[in-house]
Amino acid sequence: MSNTPAELHSSLFNGRQARPIPVRLSLEQGVLSITGPGVQLQVPEQQLRWPERQRHGARIAYLPDGATLQHANGAEWDAWAQASGHLEAPVVGWMQSWGKALVASMVLVLACVATWLWGVPLASHAALSVIPLRMDDAVGEQAMKSFEQGMLRPSKLSAAEQSAISRQFEQVMAAAFPNGGAPHWQLHFRGSKHGAIGPNAFALPGGHIVLTDEMVALLKDKPDTLVGVLAHELGHVRHRHGMQMVVQASLLSGLTALVLGDVSGLIAAVPAVLAQSAYSRQAEHQADGDAARLLKAAGIAPAVMVDLFERITTERERKRAPDLPIALASHPTDADRIAFFKNYR
Ligand SMILES: [Zn+2]
Repeated sequence: MSNTPAELHSSLFNGRQARPIPVRLSLEQGVLSITGPGVQLQVPEQQLRWPERQRHGARIAYLPDGATLQHANGAEWDAWAQASGHLEAPVVGWMQSWGKALVASMVLVLACVATWLWGVPLASHAALSVIPLRMDDAVGEQAMKSFEQGMLRPSKLSAAEQSAISRQFEQVMAAAFPNGGAPHWQLHFRGSKHGAIGPNAFALPGGHIVLTDEMVALLKDKPDTLVGVLAHELGHVRHRHGMQMVVQASLLSGLTALVLGDVSGLIAAVPAVLAQSAYSRQAEHQADGDAARLLKAAGIAPAVMVDLFERITTERERKRAPDLPIALASHPTDADRIAFFKNYR
């Protein structure tokens, strides 16, 4: 009992003749038969590029040899294709075109993410190497000014207290960098205005390290840990993390300005970048690494940092002070970091 396949009267353009050849199409068991005057073709369905299913308009199917089947009445073609068992039901067609669009947009999103994750950090790293250090100074000074107008107030520590802390840190630095080569740094003792940033420390480009009175108080009985805090911030200075963040945030517009040394416009935008961005986890690991190395070089067990993490966590839980993302109190206190200092040898 034979099932006569549905036939469709359509037109074949073979590319050699200008006029279309009238043909009959039938699709059976995955093979399209094209029959007409002087034409007898059998084309497997998979070798055919089926027409995209638009709502209106002609359907054009492409044959492997470059010839086309053209059918002006789209609805008629669709009905025939469906009746012949062509797999592309309307929903499949919809899925196909949308599937393609979805895949295309996912690829685009992934490309953007990859550029951001690897391209921009790589580019900013490369950029950093051609930016002269005096740019760090200019940027850091501007940022320092802005922070002083905002969240900082003068320190209430006595000159003696300040110099005792400075001296201890200098001794650690001398031990850690016996042959010189330490980055330039400058310690600023400040209070946190209205408790804005609480017990904290942060580093700005150009080596400005800010230590709050609240942090000094928090670690009053743990001078070694306080030195560790400064050593961590020095790590950020040494790796130019702040500058890297600035470069990353202003890569396109600011790079030329930084290289050419015309930083006035860029510098105006810098405090906002430094006030709102956080160092990457990688940057924190680098700074932790430096802190551990410095402490060890000075004969202090890196495990003293565990006290800091415990106290800062308690502090954070007690009052919800607004955070400064680059500052120490905002850094994640995860088990990994604690284990790193505990196990550092
Ligand atoms: Zn840090």
